[in-house]
Amino acid sequence: MKLLENKIVIVTGASRGIGKSIAEECVNQGATVIFTYLSSKEKAEALEKELSANGGVAKGYKSDASKFEEAQALVDSVVSEYGTVDVLINNAGITRDTLLMRMSEEQWDEVINTNLKSAFNLTKAVQRPMLKARSGSIVNMSSVVGVKGNAGQANYAASKAGLIGFTKSVAAELGSRNIRCNAIAPGFIETEMTEALDQKVVQEWRNGIPLKRGGSPLDVANATVYLASDMSAYVTGQTIHVCGGMLM
Ligand code: NAP
Repeated sequence: MKLLENKIVIVTGASRGIGKSIAEECVNQGATVIFTYLSSKEKAEALEKELSANGGVAKGYKSDASKFEEAQALVDSVVSEYGTVDVLINNAGITRDTLLMRMSEEQWDEVINTNLKSAFNLTKAVQRPMLKARSGSIVNMSSVVGVKGNAGQANYAASKAGLIGFTKSVAAELGSRNIRCNAIAPGFIETEMTEALDQKVVQEWRNGIPLKRGGSPLDVANATVYLASDMSAYVTGQTIHVCGGMLM
């Protein structure tokens, strides 16, 4: 039996990177996956094709997670097509890094709206079907930066720390209805983006991590599948660090 058989899963921001790997693993574990993207139409179409091969069920939607109405419309359409939402993975996120001295109001708002308000928007929208089903799992993609802070990332760190507070509050509010809410705090995850960086610098980062390597999107996807599935039925309000021991 696969871990997510018969589950309807929404993953935000899955056209690339960690979200893409999460969508792939959820389909591998038998879920029907509805994933979103903001502008990478071609990548999303290619992913939909990839996931739908070999009998998988997946559908990509262009939906801006930072917009309240778009999140509601997405969930409404998933519920009308598939009947419910069993799992929500709030993964969409961006960075707009700069020192506070130079940070514009726009850079602050963009990051808070995409990384934090998005989780509010989607969680509000899935609350009703999950309450009706008396079951659900919500996973929020935080970051070690949300736990530790980081110079040059005040907006990003605030959004990711906010997600941890949001996670604990939702877990406390909805636990009695069998709806769980947890967060994942990835460390340094190697994606297409990090391939473009100076490899000497990247190697120094790796050397500073107890497991002596950067994480892969699959490392994060595996933890996500665990939290999404009934394997974690007695786990809620927690933050799992997937960081190779970078932050202990
Ligand atoms: P990524 O490669 O930049 O991908 C971001 C995804 O989010 C893309 O699919 C993008 O869609 C989508 N997206 C952006 N804004 C959106 C919006 N408003 N509505 C819907 N989708 C939106 O990011 P990643 O590195 O995989 O990171 C994924 C998550 O993990 C983020 O929350 C990030 O903060 C967190 N994280 C990453 C790392 C790391 O080392 N990579 C570490 C800790 C935490 P488009 O392609 O259409 O733009």
